[in-house]
Amino acid sequence: VEPQLSGDFATLMEWADGVRRLKVRANAETPLDADTARKFGAEGIGLCRTEHMFFDPARIGVVRQMIMTDSEGGRREALARLLPFQRADFIELFRIMAGLPVTIRLLDPPLHEFLPHSEEEIGELATAMGSDLVTMQRRAADLAEANPMLGHRGCRLGISYPEIYEMQARAIFEAAVATAKETGAAPVPEIMIPLVATKKELEITRAQVDKVAKEVFAESGVTIEYYVGTMIELPRAALTADKIAEVADFFSFGTNDLTQTTFGLSRDDAGKFLPVYVEKGILPKDPFVSIDIEGVGALVKIAKEKGRSVKSDLKLGICGEHGGDPASIAFCEEAGLDYVSCSPYRVPVARLAAAQAALSSGGGDRTA
Ligand code: PEP
Ligand code: MG
Repeated sequence: VEPQLSGDFATLMEWADGVRRLKVRANAETPLDADTARKFGAEGIGLCRTEHMFFDPARIGVVRQMIMTDSEGGRREALARLLPFQRADFIELFRIMAGLPVTIRLLDPPLHEFLPHSEEEIGELATAMGSDLVTMQRRAADLAEANPMLGHRGCRLGISYPEIYEMQARAIFEAAVATAKETGAAPVPEIMIPLVATKKELEITRAQVDKVAKEVFAESGVTIEYYVGTMIELPRAALTADKIAEVADFFSFGTNDLTQTTFGLSRDDAGKFLPVYVEKGILPKDPFVSIDIEGVGALVKIAKEKGRSVKSDLKLGICGEHGGDPASIAFCEEAGLDYVSCSPYRVPVARLAAAQAALSSGGGDRTA
């Protein structure tokens, strides 16, 4: 479907934009998604999930080698091969978004998604890496986790293997410099660190990003304005948001993981029994669809209060699936967030819901 808004619908959207306070961004990592998002009126990218870029068939083999090698040199070699791909990804996104904010989240895969899954894949990797089958099998077994969603993912991976985030930061800054040189308009990247639970994690990863920024600016002679922030997607991050805010330029609530970790409920399996819970009235709605105001919502508000007590202008957004759900958008308005970010096709719904929420909360210009 060619995305476009026309006629009465476009007019309605303009009215909605006249009354809403919340900005609306989109979750997008492909040029097609970014383009669709813009056509539907997104005011930026609120979440670019970079791990999706790693699954491209031309890259996944190198990504697997990067994870499966046990030497830093081997990892750096694989990452050097991935850098041009990643730089090209960001140049394309920056071009399409033409100066609108682009929030790029550094790698956050559950590690098992990058591990070889069959004996055949292990065999292929052994050949490609000049290793033997037994060593590869042992390595795959060492890296396998019983509970990958609570394991070696997000910033934990960036801390164990700093060269991964360094490559991504380099790709982002080199792409921003190239775009600035080509178009004369510099993008302003917002680099987002996933699965942060402690201030120290953000301090360490932020320092990696800042170091690479300095290097690229010195090499290119161009300086780019950028921000480094964190996802708030673990209860501990919400409860210590005042400390985390000391090193964050922005927070984005990852309410998918925040719902999973607040309820202690696997986001991948919840569908198996949640309908019964809703039917029996234990939960009013599926909390992975509509934000659980009493629990997850309370954590969002705590993080906002604590974060803004340290930085009064701390930018706050939401990028979980809830960012496209009207009831959750009403909550975001009431909680005082700055923007919601949702899938590109939900952007028009989000624009309307944000306007509705502004009107119901007494804000917005009813005459617009
Ligand atoms: C989240 O956890 O809400 C989020 C946006 O990140 P992901 O869905 O990629 O884990
Ligand atoms: Mg998440």
